[in-house]
Amino acid sequence: MKFHGSFNDDQPLVAADLDIAIVAEVCKRTPSYECWQQESWIACCDDACEFHGEATQESLLALDQDGLVALSAETGLSFDDLVDMLKDYVPGGSPAVYHFVCRHCKAVHYNADFD
Ligand SMILES: [Zn+2]
Repeated sequence: MKFHGSFNDDQPLVAADLDIAIVAEVCKRTPSYECWQQESWIACCDDACEFHGEATQESLLALDQDGLVALSAETGLSFDDLVDMLKDYVPGGSPAVYHFVCRHCKAVHYNADFD
């Protein structure tokens, strides 16, 4: 089966200065995930992260201060709005929070988008 076009937007990966072979792997051979807006694949340690689906409320509520600050920056929500949002967060809703894991340092990364 031949695909035309790409599954994933390459811009975030190109911006992270990843090897072109990695960008091609994600953009041409990795099915994208379902999200509200344009997906945004996360890079860490000079590689594309593994996508682990939508974050659970449990995992988000377990974030430490640094994790919450990072998620606040990603979502564009103020810290207080973020904490409020997480109380009612459900996977599949809006905002949706996506869970990525670095294949090298095992760091967990999130990004989010909105309906
Ligand atoms: Zn990493």
